[in-house]
Amino acid sequence: MTTLLSLLLAAGMAWGHDIRGDIAGDVGSSADYIAVGVRSGAIIEQRWADAMAPIPLGSLVKPFTALAYSGVFPEFVCKGAESRCWLAHGHGRLRFREALAQSCNAYFLNLSREIDPGTLAVVAAKFGIAAPEIDSAETRIGLGDGWRISPLGLVHAYAELASRVGEPRVNEILAGL
Ligand SMILES: [Zn+2]
Repeated sequence: MTTLLSLLLAAGMAWGHDIRGDIAGDVGSSADYIAVGVRSGAIIEQRWADAMAPIPLGSLVKPFTALAYSGVFPEFVCKGAESRCWLAHGHGRLRFREALAQSCNAYFLNLSREIDPGTLAVVAAKFGIAAPEIDSAETRIGLGDGWRISPLGLVHAYAELASRVGEPRVNEILAGL
């Protein structure tokens, strides 16, 4: 699999999951997409009406929040609604990779409570995206509309992420997408 193809698959899965999963509001349909080259950063194909306008992008921010977490990713037990997850009956015991693959809100809320806002801002800047306007454990995982990023900016951030596959933590994140 080429890096580009795997990025497209990863981004496509993330968009699709987001739309089906835990985003409230009209982010777009699964037919909207932007494809960029991982090496060049150039847009290959785009079908998104206003890709520069910052919008809440929901769970798609989770990989960048994860990068701001220092330390070994924990195991966590998601008890569903009681743990504030979108999956009412819960995901049960999860490791990082499964939590990301299933976009478990409870796992990521637990993670995001431990994150230093300054570190998150540094990570966001490194990937060319804005930091949360309203910083809270919730906005750091894409709940609400306190963290707005342009779809184009986020696609470039994912391309940057894919290009850093050799970095151990990035590799762990890409494996969960
Ligand atoms: Zn969960």
